Amino acid sequence: MPANTARFATKAVHAGRERTAARSRATPIYLTAGFEFDDFDQAADHFGTGSGYGYTRSGNPTVRAVEHQLAALESGADAVLLGSGQAAVATALLTVAGGGDHIVCSTHIYEGTRGLLLDSLARLGVETTFVDDIADPDAWRAAITPRTTAFFAESIANARNDILDVRAVSDVAAEIGAPLVVDSTLATPFLLRPLEHGAAIVVHSASKFLAGQGSVLGGVIVDDGRFDAARSGHLAPHLVLPGRNGAPSFAERHGGLARIAYARETIAPRFGATPSPLNAFLIGQGAETLGLRVERQSQNALAVARWLNAHDAVESVDYAGLESHPHHALAEQYLQGGYGSIFTFTLRGGLAAARRFVEAVQVFTHMTHIGDVRSLVLHPGTTSHSQRTDDERAALGVAEGTLRLSIGIEDVADLLEDLERTLAVADVRAEA
Ligand SMILES: *Cc1c(COP(=O)(O)O)cnc(C)c1O
Repeated sequence: MPANTARFATKAVHAGRERTAARSRATPIYLTAGFEFDDFDQAADHFGTGSGYGYTRSGNPTVRAVEHQLAALESGADAVLLGSGQAAVATALLTVAGGGDHIVCSTHIYEGTRGLLLDSLARLGVETTFVDDIADPDAWRAAITPRTTAFFAESIANARNDILDVRAVSDVAAEIGAPLVVDSTLATPFLLRPLEHGAAIVVHSASKFLAGQGSVLGGVIVDDGRFDAARSGHLAPHLVLPGRNGAPSFAERHGGLARIAYARETIAPRFGATPSPLNAFLIGQGAETLGLRVERQSQNALAVARWLNAHDAVESVDYAGLESHPHHALAEQYLQGGYGSIFTFTLRGGLAAARRFVEAVQVFTHMTHIGDVRSLVLHPGTTSHSQRTDDERAALGVAEGTLRLSIGIEDVADLLEDLERTLAVADVRAEA
């Protein structure tokens, strides 16, 4: 802009935007809808090959930095960041399945994902079969149909704290060349990296532990970069067949990275669940301290679980860190550095006791969120699992007196005192 001749309104939007070469130590926040092209050819190049940055929905340096950070933490080849965990799950599933395809899925999954499969993807012609006994490889195998293109499960499931045998289930998926997609939100890459055990794609709600501060929503897909067109191409014609007007296929252009390239170029920007660069920055900042937080949260959770387990108002505690948990051996095998911060426990006093509990706690916050630095409590039976039938709730380990905890980084003595006071004051032992 010729600064000395410009008028007021022109100056207001153009003045003072010289480029600086300062090297910010923190990831710079490129809070911009789009990027200036250097010249005519670069613009054409960007649209032709996707090189460089043009518009934030298809790429942004802040978002890209966080994608690289999270891919590294998950031992993945590449990642795509999205506006929420739900967007990440939807994008991952639309990358591996289309109309006429079939997904084999654990019963023990987040309700939002279950609704996505049962209501939304079903309308697009994607069918799902749910597996109850996720520890049994034969149950997974028995659910396979000729149209099965993917498996889906959570590495640590709410509410029973089931631990996925990632290796065994990914081996069954591999028998037909299908990818295992793992929602690893509750485990975090600090405790478990499913791609190291045979999973092909990991998804997270970054709103939870990755961000950690409970301020933003976000989601991420991390891919192992091992797509094999010879073994799996028959399940993924969208990756191996030529594109519109005979364009080279994703597999030809990206090799092992075909799947994540398809998610990045086709699903994420077209369905449009783009993260804000500011939220991406906050997720990246959060992820820097992920290990410290999850280590502390896991220590606190184990102490709280043991304390509750010894209390006579408590009927049961479903925490994989306890030796009495049916999946404790799997937890020992797969989780490193702790057993996570989220688990349920059941009060003997049923619904009335659960109500008094959430109304009496003071250090714990009553809300529907997990993975926060603060400790949280929720009554699944009347909230997250209210859409389920009584039989389903029973199978999922959600009784009337069941409460879900997400343990934070507070001093554990304050958490135990809060629980002690709550269990005494609320007299949760008594039937209402
Ligand atoms: C919260 C959550 C999601 C959805 O993530 P949002 O960021 O809330 O959209 C998906 N899976 C699991 C296991 C979750 O806990």
